Amino acid sequence: MNRFSGARASARLPSPTMRVIFVAAECEPWAKTGGLGDVVDALARALGRIPGAVDGPVEVFLPRYRSVQVPPSAAVDALEVRVPDPLAPGGTSDVTVRSFDANGYRLRLIDHPAAYDRAGFYGDSSGDFPDNARRFALLGRAALETRRAERRPVDVVAIHDWHACPVALLRDVQYADDPVVGRAAISLTIHNLAYHGWTPRDQVDQLGLGAGGATVGDAWGIDLLGEGIRRAETVNTVSPTYAREVLLPAFGMGLDGHLVARGDQFTGILNGLDQEVWDPATDPALAAPYDAASLAGKAACRADLLARVGLDPADPSAILGVIGRLDPQKGFDLVAGAARRLVARGARLVVLGSGDATLLEGLRAEATRAPGRIAIVERFDRDLSRQIYAGVDLFLMPSRFEPCGQGQMIAMRYGTPPIAHRTGGLADTIVDLGIDAAAGTGFLFDQATPEALIAAVDRALRVYAAPDRGAWSALVARGMAVDWSWESSSAPLYASLFRRAIALRLATTG
Ligand code: ADP
Repeated sequence: MNRFSGARASARLPSPTMRVIFVAAECEPWAKTGGLGDVVDALARALGRIPGAVDGPVEVFLPRYRSVQVPPSAAVDALEVRVPDPLAPGGTSDVTVRSFDANGYRLRLIDHPAAYDRAGFYGDSSGDFPDNARRFALLGRAALETRRAERRPVDVVAIHDWHACPVALLRDVQYADDPVVGRAAISLTIHNLAYHGWTPRDQVDQLGLGAGGATVGDAWGIDLLGEGIRRAETVNTVSPTYAREVLLPAFGMGLDGHLVARGDQFTGILNGLDQEVWDPATDPALAAPYDAASLAGKAACRADLLARVGLDPADPSAILGVIGRLDPQKGFDLVAGAARRLVARGARLVVLGSGDATLLEGLRAEATRAPGRIAIVERFDRDLSRQIYAGVDLFLMPSRFEPCGQGQMIAMRYGTPPIAHRTGGLADTIVDLGIDAAAGTGFLFDQATPEALIAAVDRALRVYAAPDRGAWSALVARGMAVDWSWESSSAPLYASLFRRAIALRLATTG
């Protein structure tokens, strides 16, 4: 008997299949700035494939941002839902919930132009939108109100990052007695601990918590992620190593105490990778398909990429790729600090980033200094990202911290060994060749410094340039052979986590 199987709970245990909804700010390919979007999409699909895990497809509630493209062929079902919204004239907002089947899950777009029909997801060139608390509280409330309007109870609301944390507050402060959503368990997945959704006291009314809002948070306001961590039945982050790191002040971003307090209800589940979405054998963005059995296509992709970004395709010198959100987390400054010495070693760089353009200033200066050696592309570009994973020789991921990371997994799947800082999920997904020559899949370095990065690149270049290509080919082959599929391990772990969340909720609601 486990600790949750008391007689009272077992009498009310839900059906073995769970009614699961996701609330998230990103979901690939509809809306993505980083790995959050990849994971929400892949996990929702994978849960639907586990026999007996979920009751019907997972429903993913996502804002209908301006850029979301509804496929013309989708059979869209539109439902009008009236959502309490104390700051709106009349105290309610009408949203249209546009739902359709999205390759393995049901996408439910919350259409409310005043909140979401804007150029960016989170902000524009002048910074974060000032009404983000209201926008994301509306998302969560609309998700709960949609299921109430349909009279379809929910067993688990999986909330992703701070944007979805208003759901935890709303459930506890406003819907606790509701028969449809009040008993739902909440499972919080932290993809990024750096963004808390800090809501100052004078903006708390945006959350629409009514009088209950005054009792939440402290005198200064509400840390939405902190509230999610405190209130969700289960909390996880996306790799075991990061789950250990964030219990320490150095990585905990001020929430380490909250996480420690959750004891064994806080865990790390390593992200997978959707191996159908990311497959060099079928990727239409690539100049030529390839797989582990025949890498000829990868050489064609390399030539194609270099021509696209203005580097000499005939030059055999190693190409290092970097892709990521322009955020201090991602270590673009380390790449800039190392760039001159990397170029001096004959290496070239292809960089793709979008976000805070100032983070590329150092690299731009190095590119001007070394014409023909460093190509920088500053935008979000799905196809180019795929062409880079396929076309470069080595992939650099010098993140200062990394909850999991998708980039390094994609690179390995595309036959491109990663060079990465040994932190978080990077440590969990890459086997250093120097530590294990027979099992290595990449190169790890311990200090987040340009020097450590350069030393790791030196190790990689020695293998890359060795006259005998055997060690390099074996390294590439091992990376391509890793099974990252969600179905094989991570998605079943989420199913267990959700069952545990349900049991914990039952134990408190009776
Ligand atoms: P994070 O979640 O911190 O952004 P991950 O490595 O987990 O980092 O995921 C990043 C995802 O976003 C990958 O799929 C990567 O290819 C993609 N990505 C990041 N920046 C860009 C960009 N500028 N253009 C296209 N794709 C990008």
